[in-house]
Amino acid sequence: MQVWTRLRAGTAASGPLVRQPVSDRPQIHLIELPLEWAQGQVQVYLIEGQPLTLIDTGVRTEASLAALSAALDSLGYAIRDIERVIVTHAHRDHFGAVAAIRATGASLEVCVHEADADRLENFEAFVRARRERLLPLVSAYGVPEDHLRVFEQENDELLALELSEGESTSVDRRLRNGDRIEWKDWGLRVLHAPGHTPGHIMLEDAEAGFLFTGDQVMGQAIPYAENFYDRGLPDPRDALRRPSRFRGLIEMRRTLRQLRGRRDKILLPGYGGVIARADRTIRDTLLHYDVRLQRIDRGLRHLAAMGQTVTAFELWKALYPSDESLSDARSHLLLLIGALDCLEEDGHLVTERRADGILTHHHR
Ligand SMILES: [Zn+2]
Repeated sequence: MQVWTRLRAGTAASGPLVRQPVSDRPQIHLIELPLEWAQGQVQVYLIEGQPLTLIDTGVRTEASLAALSAALDSLGYAIRDIERVIVTHAHRDHFGAVAAIRATGASLEVCVHEADADRLENFEAFVRARRERLLPLVSAYGVPEDHLRVFEQENDELLALELSEGESTSVDRRLRNGDRIEWKDWGLRVLHAPGHTPGHIMLEDAEAGFLFTGDQVMGQAIPYAENFYDRGLPDPRDALRRPSRFRGLIEMRRTLRQLRGRRDKILLPGYGGVIARADRTIRDTLLHYDVRLQRIDRGLRHLAAMGQTVTAFELWKALYPSDESLSDARSHLLLLIGALDCLEEDGHLVTERRADGILTHHHR
């Protein structure tokens, strides 16, 4: 699932294969793979050497596999020659083709962060469970019955798309922060960078000065942060006994703050070309969220001055009155839930539960 906001940054890549985007590491090549649901193309990276490695795979459609095959062919390889896949995170546009690559006869080592590994191994069950848990989540945040039905319909469409473009696959190596991915004479360091998903990773080459950023930092777009119920059980640490939930925007903000001031020469993201102004793009992404958090904070403060509490749904209607498409409404509402998480974490916000179970918020 990809929902993002456009941002001007980065340089658009031209053509399906960009050879050697990092001059100090000529073994790296960028391959663009097509998607049916977005204007953009997902970027995966082939790394020559032993083992022949792919960072991310694209979706499992015929068009994507044909494009991958053509790009590999022009570099002198076939899909079955791939020996290792490193998955930046468990979204289908990044790992959806792993099983199809294995089916060509490739003997693969598949590596993913331990927090996203179960999702790769049980993708179909995961997307169904997340679908089931979305309605109780948005319902707790005040979305009324008639809107829920529209959410449900869009959810069904998204589920069908996810199942057509991704498929479960076994994981051989569960990565942790600081792990090394080795080739004969060099290596990459795994940086756990949660937010977009719980187990999102970046891969760092400090010596050559670059980072593979997956979807955590993109060219020309802002990544979204996931926030969904992990389980239906109440979180014992939560005074309101809310179900346990991944609070992605809190994590994303922390990750981006940690990245500020890095001196990478370039970033190699999953979308939007190669990013030459690395620190600027990281700061722009953080600023994008800070501006939205401040706007929501001001809205809450204004209501608090009038002695009012508000639901996330009421805030959405007040802040985004011109939302027309359901996907806009959905992404704004999920952003609002993430923003409320952040404001609560910062101590600016009090959340309470009404007698009907719906959560209300007011500025502290
Ligand atoms: Zn993603």
